Amino acid sequence: MKEKGTISIHTENIFPIIKKFLYSDHEIFLRELVANAVDATQKLKRLSSLGEFKHELGDVTVEVIVDKKKKTITIRDKGIGMTSEEIKKYINQIAFSGAADFVEKFKDSGDDKDIIGMFGLGFYSAFMVSNKVEIITKSYLDKSTAAHWECDGNTEFAISSSKRTKRGTDVVLHINDDSKEFLEENRIQGILEKYAKFLPVSIKFGQKDKSVEDGKDKDGNPKYKTVKEDNIINSTDPIWTKSPSDLKDEDYLKFYRELYPFSEDPQFWIHLNVDYPFNLTGVLYFPRLKNDFEIPKNKIQLYSRQVFITNEVKDIVPEFLMLLHGVIDSPDIPLNVSRSFLQSDSNVKKINAYVTKKVADKLGELYKKDRKAYQEKWSNIGLFVKYGMLTDEKFYDKAKNFALLKNTDGNYFTLDEYREKVAVNQKDKDDNVVFLYTTDSAKQDTFIQSAKKRSYDILVLNEVIDSHWINHLEQKLEKTNLKRVDADTIDKLIGNGNANESVLSEEEQTQLKDVFTKAIDNSSLMIQVESMAPDEMPVSITLPEFMRRMKDMAATGGGGMPFMGPMPETYNVAINANHPISSKILAAKREDTRVKYAKQAYDLALLSQNMLDGASLTKFIERSVELASK
Ligand code: ADP
Repeated sequence: MKEKGTISIHTENIFPIIKKFLYSDHEIFLRELVANAVDATQKLKRLSSLGEFKHELGDVTVEVIVDKKKKTITIRDKGIGMTSEEIKKYINQIAFSGAADFVEKFKDSGDDKDIIGMFGLGFYSAFMVSNKVEIITKSYLDKSTAAHWECDGNTEFAISSSKRTKRGTDVVLHINDDSKEFLEENRIQGILEKYAKFLPVSIKFGQKDKSVEDGKDKDGNPKYKTVKEDNIINSTDPIWTKSPSDLKDEDYLKFYRELYPFSEDPQFWIHLNVDYPFNLTGVLYFPRLKNDFEIPKNKIQLYSRQVFITNEVKDIVPEFLMLLHGVIDSPDIPLNVSRSFLQSDSNVKKINAYVTKKVADKLGELYKKDRKAYQEKWSNIGLFVKYGMLTDEKFYDKAKNFALLKNTDGNYFTLDEYREKVAVNQKDKDDNVVFLYTTDSAKQDTFIQSAKKRSYDILVLNEVIDSHWINHLEQKLEKTNLKRVDADTIDKLIGNGNANESVLSEEEQTQLKDVFTKAIDNSSLMIQVESMAPDEMPVSITLPEFMRRMKDMAATGGGGMPFMGPMPETYNVAINANHPISSKILAAKREDTRVKYAKQAYDLALLSQNMLDGASLTKFIERSVELASK
């Protein structure tokens, strides 16, 4: 006897909407149905282990079978099955109203299509690709009668009894003409590998074997045989579900290679495992980072009970952790809300805090356990740590103890160690400790050598992120300034108020300035005569720290500054009054000779900083040849 009825009290027909929208994510129907099959199997396994199901479980492999001729996809499980009463309750009522809610919520928000793939529309997603869906199912309960449910995408369903004798469920999708792609073996194989790779129950996939006749077997079960008997899609117990104590390094590396076949081996990893106050497992790997920002993000895969959800984990893990690779599995991440809700969800916040803490603890542990090995890794993990310190206050508080600074001699220091090291010799008149750094030790060599003569220490901060990190450190570290080694002339670099006597009288200094003003002939430069040590360069060209940072920040568009294009550069030109060349210039009788010497001295300064090129360089060379041949 066939019983007919209406799916739910909802009068609105949701099927056309289900079919039309979620367009790019149609493939998730398979994830949803396979996940249901796995759930049904897991439930039966649990009942079995509790002794409530007393028969043999037998082979519980879930099968996905494509029949190209009949244009069907069957998802078959040997799980708990359903009675017709259960179909009415779970499929006609609960699942239907769930799907209706979903449609209601998302039909107008065409903008956020990212979220849709993460969303579980459930059983009714079958109608995205089908004209008609059948369920042929028999409950695990003894004496239950099998049921056959059928719905052709209207709110009408038909339910009848079935002759099926075997426990479990077949969901048969009659694929619509727009969705023929899903009858292709490669397409289905691809979808299964994406979503089902780590499901906890074996998933087998194949085409219907053409040599087997159509029809039903003697028990009334559809007669299907898969071609590739061994085509198992998944490994059912991926490492994140195991206990770390049962795993060796090799296991983690093997898993990494499986996830990212084309990547270099990771540096190290963290096994996440927490069940209170939320549920989260996973393994996060530190990849070998290159020192630039071309790091592939979105490498972390998000799972919910071993079902792949997405690798777009933005808003789910902290920004800086997106540099990591690996897997996070949590049933507590709500997938049925939009991205903007995710950010403010309290579970997501807790998960963020937990993962951040675990990562910080792991780094701290590596640092403590073997500082030398940690230092060797620093060039790879430094970017990550700095990024974390910039973007996450809590991470900063932990990382300040294991973030390292490297100086031009290749030695490493923690922030505290370094401050202590340079405090004696590098304090300005206001008692601020000045950290000197270079962004390019080749280009800034002249300045580095001058600084070294004074026993100053110089840090190497040459990565893109460093210009931001420098600002951040200055805000965080008490009474500490950072200054690039060419930000000022050597006497003023630390600014401790010690000044040299000048060998030139004030009048001579004015004369000297006039000569240079004429020689340089550029009104945008600040020309000053200073009394430096006689063995310092005769002329130094410096860009004040503040100006340069503005420029750097504007160039990378960071630090809260909009991109402003090239900034005007106001260089300072300092003439060393105490250098013998200065006296020589003043001693020359003819004015054009004075100007020529001044030009030569200025060009040398430009040259030492790689700032001389083109016609100016040619002129400099000609002048040098002329002066040398005199
Ligand atoms: P959800 O899985 O989120 O509960 P679905 O719409 O996917 O929502 O499924 C609704 C319900 O139908 C499930 O909770 C389950 O009780 C039942 N169900 C679906 N598929 C199966 C199956 N293969 N075997 C047994 N029960 C199933």
